[in-house]
Amino acid sequence: MFPSLLPNFIRADLAFAHGEGAWLYTEDGRRFLDFGAGIATSSLGHGHKHLTQTIADQAGKVMHVSNLYRVPQAERLAQRLVDASFADSAFFCNSGAEANEGMIKMIRKAMTPLARYRIICFDGAFHGRTLGTLAAGSNAAYRKGFGPVPEGFDHVPLNNMNAVRDAIGPETAGIIVEPIQGDGGVRVADMRFLQDLRAVCDEFGILLGLDEVQTGMGRTGRLFAHEWAGITPDVMALAKGIGGGFPLGAVLATEAVGKHLTPGTHGTTFGGNPLACAAGNAVLDVVLTPGFLDGVRRKAGVLRAGLEQIVRAHPAVFSEVRGDGLLLGLVCVAPLAQMQAACEAEGLLALPASENVLRLAPPLTVTDNDIEMGLAKLGRVAAG
Ligand SMILES: *Cc1c(COP(=O)(O)O)cnc(C)c1O
Repeated sequence: MFPSLLPNFIRADLAFAHGEGAWLYTEDGRRFLDFGAGIATSSLGHGHKHLTQTIADQAGKVMHVSNLYRVPQAERLAQRLVDASFADSAFFCNSGAEANEGMIKMIRKAMTPLARYRIICFDGAFHGRTLGTLAAGSNAAYRKGFGPVPEGFDHVPLNNMNAVRDAIGPETAGIIVEPIQGDGGVRVADMRFLQDLRAVCDEFGILLGLDEVQTGMGRTGRLFAHEWAGITPDVMALAKGIGGGFPLGAVLATEAVGKHLTPGTHGTTFGGNPLACAAGNAVLDVVLTPGFLDGVRRKAGVLRAGLEQIVRAHPAVFSEVRGDGLLLGLVCVAPLAQMQAACEAEGLLALPASENVLRLAPPLTVTDNDIEMGLAKLGRVAAG
């Protein structure tokens, strides 16, 4: 019989009844250390009191009113994101794909007067599952059977400035890049490469768009990963961790880009509703607490050092550590599915990524003890 829940995902046979911090519990009492955080999304872990209480309080007042009216929670969240970033303005939506779709539309709209519409993207990129973001992404398997996708995206290898320069033409409107490719295999865009992308965008008068859906909101130990490179984009897509598990996405833009989205040009029914933005504000309360991101950086260092030690001790199992902050990857020698199953048997949840990479993205609130236990579990996995 065809399953009532559409079978488009490969799901582990696990169902969680509740969670606390970095731990998830099944109905029958088994517990799992969650180093996947719902794909880098449960940034404050599970059952975080400030987040859950804020959501409950807001739900009891008003959840949704539409964007026909002012939404004070969205105004506050936008102002706080603007104050903490390069941006002058924020647009809220409900997912990463929508944020990237909005970013693509903003780049095209802003460059319409110059008749520039093409966007340079990268091999290994993942930007979502809408037709536009499938076109921007590089994974041909994700596009198969869904074509034709929108035209106007040119793909070049990551960390190759010559290829980028060669791809820029009279119709190029901008460049979209992930500071770290998550789905693509935890592949890091070099800091120097990001700086050169900024420079080449300025040189040609085109726009730099960053997909920080996975790397943003503290994941790398800075609020946004591009801060490490000392650059700012013209427009940026956010989602995943921004709502701490509540669906929320955002596009942050400079005034020069954002001003082109005049009334009626773009919209959303759910986007930026009081409940989602209350969740976003609660996450920001925590992430912007003085010292919080220092803690993420410190914990990331501990996790990375432990992973490197495991790779050194078991080079026949794991060949390399990739990534930055709390977005790390172990390149597996054996098939990834086998390693994931071994982790699960040890009570550790980890994520898949391309290039046979086991992706680790624990909650930003992960404790030192959690990290120690996670490393011990991975050590046992490596030892077979
Ligand atoms: C997850 C992800 C997306 C897509 O987000 P959805 O919420 O699944 O639509 C886009 N870009 C990056 C970098 C992501 O990690």
